Amino acid sequence: MPRLDPQNGCTAPALSRRRFLGGLAAFAGASLLEPGRALASIGGREERVLTFHHTHTGERLSLPYWGDGTYLPASLSRVDEFLRDFRTGDRHPIDPALLDQLHSLRLATGSRAPFQVISGYRSPQTNDALRGHGGGQARHSLHMQGRAIDVRLADVRTSVLRDAALELGRGGVGFYPSQDFVHVDTGPVRRW
Ligand SMILES: [Zn+2]
Repeated sequence: MPRLDPQNGCTAPALSRRRFLGGLAAFAGASLLEPGRALASIGGREERVLTFHHTHTGERLSLPYWGDGTYLPASLSRVDEFLRDFRTGDRHPIDPALLDQLHSLRLATGSRAPFQVISGYRSPQTNDALRGHGGGQARHSLHMQGRAIDVRLADVRTSVLRDAALELGRGGVGFYPSQDFVHVDTGPVRRW
């Protein structure tokens, strides 16, 4: 198994009491997805909405990124900006399939909390710098292609989030319990 990005440079905000209490209960009530369940109908209009809180910049974002059968370009652009490399300010297109994975995870876990973002896009300079500090980041990390994200949910145990991501079976899933996040990407199905 490839060993990607242990993220030793990342901060890990303290766990809240609520997420311990809420995690398993939320998961137990959720059914794992069929694609049709990834739709929310609002006034007859089908949308997929995501909500984020970036742990490094403090920024928040909540928006529909898909509606009426298509991805919304203006929303994707806002997501690209939000998930920029916060160390350098560089931005890169984020794979919309990654957003679909997050949306499916929100439905699968029943979470009502924003995705807390630890890392989205990483520029080559940042990836090299993290590698240089012994972080173990992959030389060709999918973070550098806008195809990977490291996240947690305040109301879902991270192990439950990992299991939901594995159940989706759509890409790579990395579990980092000591830093309390899950890596998901749109590469080949694999786990570590
Ligand atoms: Zn990652």
